[in-house]
Amino acid sequence: MILVPDQLAALYDSTQVLVAAYDSFDRLRYANAAFRAAFFLAPGEEVTWAEIMRRNHAERRGTIIAAPDFDAWLVSTSSRRGKVPYRSFETDLYDGRWLLMTESVSASGWMLCIASDITTLKADGRDVRQARDRAIKEAQTDDLTGIANRRFITARVDDMLAPGALGGALCVLDLDNFKYINDLVGHLAGDAVLRDFAARINGLIRRKDCFGRIGGEEFVLVLPQTSAAEAVLIVERMLSLVRQSRPLPQWPDFAYTFSAGIATGGPGTTFTDLYGRADRALYMAKMGGRNRIQVDGEAPPAVMAARG
Ligand code: GH3
Ligand code: MG
Ligand code: MG
Repeated sequence: MILVPDQLAALYDSTQVLVAAYDSFDRLRYANAAFRAAFFLAPGEEVTWAEIMRRNHAERRGTIIAAPDFDAWLVSTSSRRGKVPYRSFETDLYDGRWLLMTESVSASGWMLCIASDITTLKADGRDVRQARDRAIKEAQTDDLTGIANRRFITARVDDMLAPGALGGALCVLDLDNFKYINDLVGHLAGDAVLRDFAARINGLIRRKDCFGRIGGEEFVLVLPQTSAAEAVLIVERMLSLVRQSRPLPQWPDFAYTFSAGIATGGPGTTFTDLYGRADRALYMAKMGGRNRIQVDGEAPPAVMAARG
């Protein structure tokens, strides 16, 4: 028995179940009629998930976002969105509906979202379930920046190195001369620099990648199925974006940089080995003058030193 795509599309448009697919850049590529109605989308409209959330939030429709700072919510949520093959959670809509949302992510990074209306179901125990969802989120999130924390990022590295996984690159990104920055602008402004860094880098990563803060001014970028050469291109782009950032309104000329160490590995590599190699490469980048990228096992690239 073969179901042709037209019939499938017609069935999807006639169901109350919400169905949507996002590509690996989190752009909406399909939404059935129920999904479009719930999130106020025109037929065929291809917008990013972040844009859908932003404009609906501005109009007080679609998903209820209780967080006081929308941009901080967006950074935090996108940092953990679509990083595991499957998750489900409950969500409230302004129209009074309460949805059970599921997100399934394929190896290619596309995401299938299916949501069912559970308004009339299981009202008891809802507080407990919401408290559980909040606890899971807090256990995976760095307080200061809202992005993934060490625990979440370590699990993503383990996924990348698991038997049968395809390996990839681990990049350690460390802000340059941060102690000096704190001394210069103060600890609170230093915190604002950390948040600026987290938000900027987070805005550049692909769905399958994961970015988190693992300590003080040290961050890790996990890039599955990515070669060292590709990782260099990705981190280069981040470095040039960060160099242009002027995050402190009270210090309009203040700029900052970071250094990066990159190592690659696959199944058979341990987290300790991969992280250790990336960290040694980072040390070489620091020794080489900072504001640059060093790949484990490669000679320092002399050309990169001069950029500013
Ligand atoms: P390098 O270029 O070699 O990395 O030098 P650095 O000064 O960045 O590195 P170092 O490890 O010597 O100092 C890191 C500083 O980061 C020291 C610490 O006070 C500061 N720091 C750690 N966590 C936080 C934080 O949450 N907020 C602020 N504002 N500063 C922090
Ligand atoms: Mg540092
Ligand atoms: Mg450091």
